[in-house]
Amino acid sequence: MKIKGVKTFILRQDIGDKAFYSSQARFSVRSSMIVRIETDDGTVGWGEAGQYGPPEPPAACIDEVLAPQLIGRRADEPVRVFDDLYAFCRDFGQKGPYIEALSAVDIALWDIWGQSLGRPVHALMGGAVRDRVAAYGTGCYYPDFFTDTDRMLKALADETAALAKTGLTAMKVKIGLVPVEVDVERLSIVRGAFGPGFPLMADANHAYNAATAIRMGRALEAEKFLWFEEPVVPEDRDGYRRVRAALDVPIAGGECEYTRYGFRDLIGEGCVDIAQPDICCAGGFSELQKIVAIATSHGVMTVPHVWGSGIAVAAALQAIATLPLVPHTAVGVPLQNEPVIEFDRSPNPIRDELLETPFTLEDGCLPVPQGPGLGVVVNESKLEEFTNYPSPGIGGG
Ligand code: CA
Repeated sequence: MKIKGVKTFILRQDIGDKAFYSSQARFSVRSSMIVRIETDDGTVGWGEAGQYGPPEPPAACIDEVLAPQLIGRRADEPVRVFDDLYAFCRDFGQKGPYIEALSAVDIALWDIWGQSLGRPVHALMGGAVRDRVAAYGTGCYYPDFFTDTDRMLKALADETAALAKTGLTAMKVKIGLVPVEVDVERLSIVRGAFGPGFPLMADANHAYNAATAIRMGRALEAEKFLWFEEPVVPEDRDGYRRVRAALDVPIAGGECEYTRYGFRDLIGEGCVDIAQPDICCAGGFSELQKIVAIATSHGVMTVPHVWGSGIAVAAALQAIATLPLVPHTAVGVPLQNEPVIEFDRSPNPIRDELLETPFTLEDGCLPVPQGPGLGVVVNESKLEEFTNYPSPGIGGG
């Protein structure tokens, strides 16, 4: 069973008047890089990268550098392929697009390996602990009119009232674009909509220095938030430690980190309580298993970051199915020692429409796909439609 073809797809969808802000950027277009790997017996595997960075660089890494090395190799040895290609890229690509590209390839090869054995990826990873995963929503971004505080707060009240009826297990709110005092008002609206005791988390996308993060963290503690994600920039390990030491709210981070080596440092240096590798960026299933070993040995729970298409959601479900309780108890408690899945609720037609059967909530959970490989079917006509969306382009009239 040898690799015969490798093809990348750059997907892009304009979200028009639904554009929104995180603390770092305005999103008016959603994008993704999908890889399709075909074997000499006609098996097709799918992988993904490039959802929160530009999709072109990982596509170029695959097309120009990795694909020529993949053609003719065994398709059912993803860990060996990852290690070989990582070694090849080490001198120029320990982080960033090369590792995103390797992640997409790795996911596709695990998909193929599973299909070749008629088993889901979670079985190949060593066995599932759970067949469904409690889902938390990611939402409450900022609208274009975020500088009009009264209008923004009213829109947030409407959004949270609707989200509170969707049956999510927990909800994560964006913070960091506006002054702390305004975000504190936003937290209070969210708490009011979901009610006391409902699990809430906050994500600053590294908007703060350590002192401001601690000030915000006190407000999160007062509203009984369960984690504070990316309080400071990922390079500021001292800042992470300072924030974590000052606050009782657990600190989460890692979506900007790569491979076992990046997480060895982030976790080993005491920066986080919850590690958030993105399977489509940090090194696929092959590296996730090493990251989980490092995290578990430090008493850190792994809750993968997910912001991509249905392929990314399927990959996350396959992996989360296998994650141990950290620490072990007879029965897990979601968010306390039982991992959950990030279910992004911001506008993204690629996430909602790329699969033949989209993921939907069942009792606040997403079911782990049980079919061979990733266990999902890509709608190839939708893939073509999203791929054909014209690039915004550079320059011109
Ligand atoms: Ca995040």
